[in-house]
Amino acid sequence: MSSYNESLETTLIVTSTRGHSEIKTGAVNVPIYLSSTFHQESFDDFGPYDYSRSGNPTREALEKTIAELEGGTRGLAFASGIAAISSAFMLLSSGDHIVITKDVYGGTFRFVTEVLPRFGIEHTFADFTNIEAITNAIQPNTKLIYIETPSNPCLGITDIAAVVELAKSSDCLTFLDNTFMTPIYQRPLDLGVDIVLHSATKFLSGHSDIIAGLAVTKEEDLGNRLAFIQNSFGAILGAQDSFSLIQGIKTLSVRFEKSAQSAQKVANYLNGHNLVEKVFFPGLSTHPGYETHNKQSSSAGAVLSFRLPNKSIAKAFIENVKIPVFAVSLGGVESILSYPAQMSHAAMPKAEREKRGITDGLLRFSVGLENVDDLIADFAQALEVASKQNQKVGI
Ligand SMILES: *Cc1c(COP(=O)(O)O)cnc(C)c1O
Repeated sequence: MSSYNESLETTLIVTSTRGHSEIKTGAVNVPIYLSSTFHQESFDDFGPYDYSRSGNPTREALEKTIAELEGGTRGLAFASGIAAISSAFMLLSSGDHIVITKDVYGGTFRFVTEVLPRFGIEHTFADFTNIEAITNAIQPNTKLIYIETPSNPCLGITDIAAVVELAKSSDCLTFLDNTFMTPIYQRPLDLGVDIVLHSATKFLSGHSDIIAGLAVTKEEDLGNRLAFIQNSFGAILGAQDSFSLIQGIKTLSVRFEKSAQSAQKVANYLNGHNLVEKVFFPGLSTHPGYETHNKQSSSAGAVLSFRLPNKSIAKAFIENVKIPVFAVSLGGVESILSYPAQMSHAAMPKAEREKRGITDGLLRFSVGLENVDDLIADFAQALEVASKQNQKVGI
């Protein structure tokens, strides 16, 4: 980095255009190095790259970029968010125990509950909006506290600094899934977290075109251990997708800022609508995590959830809304409406879902780059139709 303190927006561009190894032509975009292997000039003095699973210049440009953005020492790019997450869990050993937020992403829930126990790694879920509940879940063999804040899909907020303090006093590592905030709005490593994880499929790439994951470690030693697992497990991101992700990251700040502003307006609108039972968004002062979130993040982000009275109203709303796509995923330039009960959390048993507030009327909304007044008008007409159908059902 330069001697002065660059802002994150500058780092997004400068690292991804000037930080890569393309010194020969001065191209402002990193070349896509489609090469599995690399010729060695000297018989006994090998160059920096030998085989692309272990290291590829395009992927390395991306890894350097995310490490700088998160303020870490080592960035690593994986084939998906869940590949980054599961590879990070591979730092643990048989007999270890994890304390993990009960509001965790569905795929992470599946890995922790169905795969890790077969390798002798156990877990306890806790309410991560409550530091006492986390403290009570710690056992003598707890080696990791796993945070997701804001959480998916009910936007629960965890006090990052408080968990880090608890982890340090209990000799545990902390991992944090930063997908919903990105380093533009939340920098967990600055608060003492050991590894930040991302589904870069979402806001970081931003165009719903690739599946990708990233991990960044605070300490070099942990970075080397995770790089060893990346190479051993082999779930690396390919060079073409690494290039796409670098291009996406360049526009992250403008995309995310616009989407976050729109999300606040949509949340305010839904909050005042009589058919909407509850809005989950950390930008609303009524949100229980409002103050904690503001302390550790600089924006409420661009994802919100809201609860309609039941499944048939949610269905009518989805069938009548015209602008957003109805799909899994989030963080794209297009607004995305999802139905967590049958999408992101389909892997979770119904009883577990409902305990987490993921009821049959819950919808999640990821705000894209459309005009916000158009989005609100579209929601207004769809809620109107849904409410009329509800009255008919009521008769
Ligand atoms: C999507 C998502 C993941 C999983 O990432 P993939 O890229 O789909 O593998 C993990 N955590 C959160 C919060 C997500 O939204």
